[in-house]
Amino acid sequence: MEVRDVARTMTRGADAIQFRTSAWIDGAFVAAQDGRTYTSENPATGAPLVEVALCGAADVDRAVAAARRSFETGVWSDLSPSERKRTLLRFADLIDANREELAITETLDSGKPIVDVRALDIPDTAATIRWHAEAIDKLYGQVAPTGPSAVAMIVREPAGVVGAVIPWNYPALMAAWKLGPALATGNSVVIKPAGQTALSLLRMAELAGEAGLPPGVLNVVPGPGEVVGAAIARHPDIDVVAFTGSTEIGRRFLHHSADSNLKRVVLELGGKSPQVVMADAPPLDQIAPKILDAIFWNMGENCSAGSRLIVHRSRQAELVERLVAAATEDWRVGDPMDDETRIGPLVTRGHLERVLGYIEAGRQDGARLVAGGRRVLEGTGGHYLAPTIFDDATNQMRIAREEIFGPVLTVIPFDTEAEAIAIANDTPYGLAASVYTENLRVAHRMARALRAGTVGVNAYSEGDLSTPFGGYKQSGFGGHDKSIHAHDQYTELKTIWIDMTGHES
Ligand code: NDP
Repeated sequence: MEVRDVARTMTRGADAIQFRTSAWIDGAFVAAQDGRTYTSENPATGAPLVEVALCGAADVDRAVAAARRSFETGVWSDLSPSERKRTLLRFADLIDANREELAITETLDSGKPIVDVRALDIPDTAATIRWHAEAIDKLYGQVAPTGPSAVAMIVREPAGVVGAVIPWNYPALMAAWKLGPALATGNSVVIKPAGQTALSLLRMAELAGEAGLPPGVLNVVPGPGEVVGAAIARHPDIDVVAFTGSTEIGRRFLHHSADSNLKRVVLELGGKSPQVVMADAPPLDQIAPKILDAIFWNMGENCSAGSRLIVHRSRQAELVERLVAAATEDWRVGDPMDDETRIGPLVTRGHLERVLGYIEAGRQDGARLVAGGRRVLEGTGGHYLAPTIFDDATNQMRIAREEIFGPVLTVIPFDTEAEAIAIANDTPYGLAASVYTENLRVAHRMARALRAGTVGVNAYSEGDLSTPFGGYKQSGFGGHDKSIHAHDQYTELKTIWIDMTGHES
């Protein structure tokens, strides 16, 4: 049977995959201490998929104790970087070797289109682990410029026990963005997947064990955010906590840190990213697909989604016409297991309703609905939404100010460059931005003026593994994912000062 046929079969019955559904603590799958479970559903059908361990604070304590033990014994933290590299490369190879199973698992659990998961999520997950593994034995410490009376070394050491709480939009990849740098630098980790999407990470943890990661170095604790996530945030024996998710929940981590042990907090949060199309933008047939990728990719459930299109009035009508045509022709909504599907269901019924609420707000605030705006494929039981475009909006409307996290594009016209910059920056967020122009000087000026962690010029881009990813303003706090800068988040900087004065022999 072809892989594709297997995938099709799985759409209806996931029975051929043995999902891992227990917590992974101290190198073994274990039930929640009180034996409770919760039902995770398939967003494509709304039907129950599997029962997952519903962990609580006691399970977090267990996981942190295992992580602390493994850290203090040095089974991982004291290995030479090249030894850690070897294990992590085996882990990455095992992710690659099991990519089809992981891809199907991810799609059934999250509703993400299988074509994207096969082409991007799972290969990028392996690539992320591999990138940090490859980097770790090539980094040097420093010797400070002292005189001969002292030698001062500046070295990096693992922070200790890292806690991580991650979202449902890129379940495997977001885990890798945390695990890659945290494990490569020698930490032990306790990580909580989002309740909706625990399955790929649980399987990855097992693969890490198979690759030789010692017990206790990686622990996965599924369960509700307000219990398991908060227990991680408050835990007195966690040294660093890394969170990706909403700004609202992210800010709670700072409170929890202040109220517990002042653990370091790194936050990767929401966005309302502008895509600015200048009067001298490249031909619109070239940029329209990029603009739609930026907002419809992953159903718009993407922190860096380009959800505000800020377009020069002279190009507005033609561009919107092209976008509307392409939204219906190129962005097929359907079963995420189908290779033709580009927009799968939203992650939950509740989230679909939230996005529909924003669409209603857009209508009421007077924006012009020119595409989508309604639920589709209702008979499937899944949470499908047609790709949606609002034209002639203003930046004061709710659909322009709040993170919708769905396939909803808001178009806002402008007349001058200064006005474009003012609109683009008039947001509490600052994660990503794009600018489309053929004028080099305008490109440089705009790239500098836009207050965002990543600015794509004539592109929608999050960069690649070699570039840091993080936000300005309320889009982020305390660090960056990806690139060598991610290692700073999970390491302490130590000075070793050696006094060279005294006896001469
Ligand atoms: P959340 O921020 O609530 O969820 C992200 C993670 O935090 C999940 O693992 C969640 O666990 C956990 N969590 C929830 N509450 C707490 C808490 N009190 N303490 C500690 N951890 C907690 O996002 P939602 O899933 O509720 O989505 C709501 C909105 O957030 C979206 O519509 C979108 O706007 C934004 N968002 C942004 C993301 C990004 O990548 N920047 C990713 C996801 C959402 P659990 O879900 O298991 O309860």
